[in-house]
Amino acid sequence: MRTAYMAGNWKMHKTPSESAAFARELKRALSHVGHKLMVAPAFPCISAVVDVLKGTNVLVGAQNMSSEEQGAHTGEVSVLMLKDLGVRVVILGHSERRHTYGETDKFINAKVQLALKHGMEIILCVGETLEEREAGKVDDVVNGQLAGGLHGVSESQLPGITIAYEPVWAIGTGRNATPEDADAVHRTIRNTISAMYSKAAAEAMVIQYGGSVKPDNVKSLMSMANIDGALVGGAALKIDSFEPIAKFDQM
Ligand code: PEP
Repeated sequence: MRTAYMAGNWKMHKTPSESAAFARELKRALSHVGHKLMVAPAFPCISAVVDVLKGTNVLVGAQNMSSEEQGAHTGEVSVLMLKDLGVRVVILGHSERRHTYGETDKFINAKVQLALKHGMEIILCVGETLEEREAGKVDDVVNGQLAGGLHGVSESQLPGITIAYEPVWAIGTGRNATPEDADAVHRTIRNTISAMYSKAAAEAMVIQYGGSVKPDNVKSLMSMANIDGALVGGAALKIDSFEPIAKFDQM
């Protein structure tokens, strides 16, 4: 039985004081949620958010991290720094990192390996562009990203990994995949995990959907057999929208 996992990616929004104030609202609103919750503030806001959410049911994540452990890497943020701050989860391979900053599967895999080495949980994002979807390449793209991102990862390390399927054309556009379309890709992901590892590993894998998740579509997405959670961008920035998403099973 997989536990639902609802996560918010705040991207480059909110200052440290705005982040702390929002975290206080979340702490109050979400204290009775029984499933897994996570928010990922921008790096300079992490400390303020950890101070508020420490000891609560809301984990604090990072949106990215360096592929290097430490050293002369100007502008980068190390897994060691994140762990010391109290970060438990890192989002890797987000489409904005892949497409705006040119991150490759090989580069993302180096981060995956480093995060696992340090016991950091991972949300590994995969997903196709509109062009790739229209060319009928969805399965090839997603399977390639899974094979690349999980290269060298053993089955015993999989419990620390969540997969987020985020079709690039649905992120921040208001165009979400239909629940049936999303579920079909989630099924493909599960089959691929089964082929790469085992049926048991595939059954246990939590697969989030991301791409214009809103209060009015979260229930139908979460009702699908292979959708276990959501990675939320825009709607994670306001209590009025994130609370009903996080509490999809209560509202
Ligand atoms: C995201 O950035 O991961 C995302 C899914 O964004 P949005 O919910 O705004 O589409």
